[in-house]
Amino acid sequence: MNLSNLTIKEATLGLKKKKFSSNQLVKACLDKIKKVEKKLNAFITINENGAIDQANNCDLYFKKFGEGIFEKKPLLGIPIAIKDLFSTKDLKTTAGSIIINKYIPPFDATVVKKLKNAGAIIVGKTNEDAWGHGSSGENSDHGPTRNPYNLERVPGGSSSGSGAAVASGECFMATGTDTGSSVRLPAAYCNLVGIKPTYGRVSRYGIIAMASSFDTVGHLTKTVYDNALTLEITAGKDSYDATTVPKDVPKYTHYLEKSIEGLKIGIPEEYFISGIDEKVENKILSAIKQLQKLGGKVNKISLPHTEYAMATYYILVPSEISSNLSKFDGIRYGDERELFGDEAKRRIMLGTYTLSSGYYDAYYLKAAKVRTLVKRDFEEAFKKVDVLIAPSSPTLPFKIGEKAADPLQMYLSDIFLCPVNLAGMPSLNVPMGFIDGLPVGMQIIGQQFSEKLLYQVAYKYEEATQYYKISPKI
Ligand code: GLN
Repeated sequence: MNLSNLTIKEATLGLKKKKFSSNQLVKACLDKIKKVEKKLNAFITINENGAIDQANNCDLYFKKFGEGIFEKKPLLGIPIAIKDLFSTKDLKTTAGSIIINKYIPPFDATVVKKLKNAGAIIVGKTNEDAWGHGSSGENSDHGPTRNPYNLERVPGGSSSGSGAAVASGECFMATGTDTGSSVRLPAAYCNLVGIKPTYGRVSRYGIIAMASSFDTVGHLTKTVYDNALTLEITAGKDSYDATTVPKDVPKYTHYLEKSIEGLKIGIPEEYFISGIDEKVENKILSAIKQLQKLGGKVNKISLPHTEYAMATYYILVPSEISSNLSKFDGIRYGDERELFGDEAKRRIMLGTYTLSSGYYDAYYLKAAKVRTLVKRDFEEAFKKVDVLIAPSSPTLPFKIGEKAADPLQMYLSDIFLCPVNLAGMPSLNVPMGFIDGLPVGMQIIGQQFSEKLLYQVAYKYEEATQYYKISPKI
């Protein structure tokens, strides 16, 4: 049996039935890492000894307390990976940038702490576009990550290493951050389930900030069940992050089987624009038919301010970036600022300009107002429908280097994903099949705090299609 290709659900069942130990699970992932890392470059740091020690502890724990321990520690003995934007105690954290290449955090981000408390084992820190700036992984100072389904292509970014690592079986789950697309795009390009939760659902404490009014923490997994289970663990109020909302976290996994008969599905007409790859369009149309077969009722919906979303995003996000990155000044934090990569420099310049006196009203303030209009579009839509369905990306995973020289082309990969972040809504990517051997994803968007419903819809779709079973041949 190839242990590293199991889902979390299957691995936990195997552990409970003593078919294998956590030590074996971790070793299977470490072996996979040794085998494929030279090709993929999904990790910046590998925690080999730490992971094996932790696995041995988990095995002892299970021996001592028996099966009941999984109630308290639902991820006991499961190897996972953490995006390098999350602070991990005693484990190097670089944000994908050489500016903080020597940072060993003295504490864990809240999400990391929760995952560890649930028994998960960290096998390593994943590669990413530096600071989260990017859609392909090519902006990493540690070299690009490659797509395990096709090594000439990008895995999607900025959580590029997390996508490649889960898809290839180097770990069972990886964390990501989604400021404009960065969980859902790598999930779409790597045949994975990726959640961008409601803004404020998951604590960002201990995560290096990109754009604070947009940043969310999400997870990449092979299946919907695994994703729902992880969010159950990580979501909730955190006194260290004042933007988290004191709302109960449902047991998402308990509701997955519910029928979606009568579900009102909206198709945003502005998302079916010229520029969308015809093959992707055909795929989403057949996915919609599949949802209809499952009982969904489909209606066209308009999100009239969609055309302004990208421009608004690329004013507000660089503004917040220029402010958040100002502390990395070579004195308080990090090495000298000349070491920032081109993309970070571009955003710092843009953000400094849009926030400067005289231009603030014309750009920042105006964009903040348009943001409200984009949010209102979604609110109006959700008066009529339960969820919105769209492709996650207008194109297939592109070739490494194909868009690197043209930032505007790169930014357009997020055209269907970033409006959701402007509005703070949750959205889930679920695998929608393959085109020419390359994975494509469907996005399910819901109103705030509707993650439970998103998982139900995705679960039914996954049950009917089972694309997650197609692993990359690497
Ligand atoms: N690709 C988008 C950007 O470059 C989103 C990145 C993200 O979500 N971290 O800003």
